[in-house]
Amino acid sequence: MSSVAEVAAQLQGYDPQALSVAGVNEFLLRLVHSIDAPQQLPLFEALGRVLADDVISPINVPPHDNSAMDGFALRGSELRPGAPLQLSRVGTALAGVAWRGTVGPGECVKIMTGAVMPDGLDTVVPQELVKRLAQDDLRIEVPANLLKLGDNRRRLGEDLRCGEVALKKGAHLGPAALGLVASLGLATVQVQRRLKVAYFSTGDEILSLGEPLREGAVYDSNRYTLFGLLSRLGCEVVDLGVVRDQPALLEAAFIDAASHCDAIITSGGVSVGEADFTKAMMKKLGDVAFWKIAMRPGRPMAVGRIGQALLFGLPGNPVAVMVTFLAFVRPALLRLMGSSALLPPLLKAYSLEPLRKKPGRTEYQRGTVSTTADGSLRVKTTGNQGSGVLSSMVQANGLIVLHHAQGDVATGEPVDVMMFDGAI
Ligand code: AMP
Ligand code: MG
Repeated sequence: MSSVAEVAAQLQGYDPQALSVAGVNEFLLRLVHSIDAPQQLPLFEALGRVLADDVISPINVPPHDNSAMDGFALRGSELRPGAPLQLSRVGTALAGVAWRGTVGPGECVKIMTGAVMPDGLDTVVPQELVKRLAQDDLRIEVPANLLKLGDNRRRLGEDLRCGEVALKKGAHLGPAALGLVASLGLATVQVQRRLKVAYFSTGDEILSLGEPLREGAVYDSNRYTLFGLLSRLGCEVVDLGVVRDQPALLEAAFIDAASHCDAIITSGGVSVGEADFTKAMMKKLGDVAFWKIAMRPGRPMAVGRIGQALLFGLPGNPVAVMVTFLAFVRPALLRLMGSSALLPPLLKAYSLEPLRKKPGRTEYQRGTVSTTADGSLRVKTTGNQGSGVLSSMVQANGLIVLHHAQGDVATGEPVDVMMFDGAI
């Protein structure tokens, strides 16, 4: 485990007073390493977890050649170009029971989707494409030039071969992955334990819900957005409430969280002009860097460790909390939980309006992305882009990412967008 100073020393041109977004992510990549705490879980409990080991297929999937259609199984070698093929039906193969008869030349077997291909047969003609020549399909004709050998047959092991890696360590177990593991006949999987993440809000002006509104105060929204973001990420959350700006209270909250959590997230109290004790307490108890990041919204942020726990001191503004979470905390926590997927892919969308942008910082504007008639994406900003305006996040379905070196954007120009997908 490297200290903050050791990580900083590894980075070229590290300047805590003017760190780029890329610089932050590079720092975090070096600071944060995966936990290694595997546990074996039944599949139904493993949704959203990260695999702690490769899943190796113990069987072939599918386990036998089978039909992809309802139809008639035949020998592909009997097909002749330009000529129809007449066949006599000698049996019926149903799904779930292998048909054990023998099939001679000029013969076929009626077959259902998923049924095992009878010995010697390798091709299936879909039932709706044959000409029926006798009652009960005892004699059929396959039209000329319709099929080639192997058509409509699923091969043994075409999804997965016995011994092959079905899923890699670090993969997220989403619905498709759960189904894939089940298709291998495996009832349990080896996954990393869930992360436990504590959070609290700081600031004497922050009111808990239920307190009467008073002049100069605002209700705490950050604990709720953090609760949602962390829960969506599959973390176990520990809510430490609003902590008043008193050293003893802050110290107790940090020590409590550090003693039993993998990470601690605070909001507020890390900007330069702060009169309060949050920064001082982080400095006293932990190994922490205080940054000014070239970004908007966001800017001030503290990162490091208190004891074994990772610490993220996020800015107080509600939109800045969400944006810094998505840009930095989420990828760092994914890495901590052992995931191999970190940042979501960026998509290109055409801006429906001009966007003002100063080169030299990364800007995250809230946007609504929609699809045009020709299938391309377009994006429009949502309302007031102030860093305290949460309604802009509610209306948005993604963030417009205006990169560090980028300048103004004209109407119709493409911009990168990061969709919220399941994160928000
Ligand atoms: P700070 O980073 O402490 O300077 O806070 C920046 C702004 O965010 C101030 O207007 C705070 O009142 C506001 N703020 C800080 N914490 C919260 C919170 N938990 N909920 C809502 N607003 C907050
Ligand atoms: Mg404050």
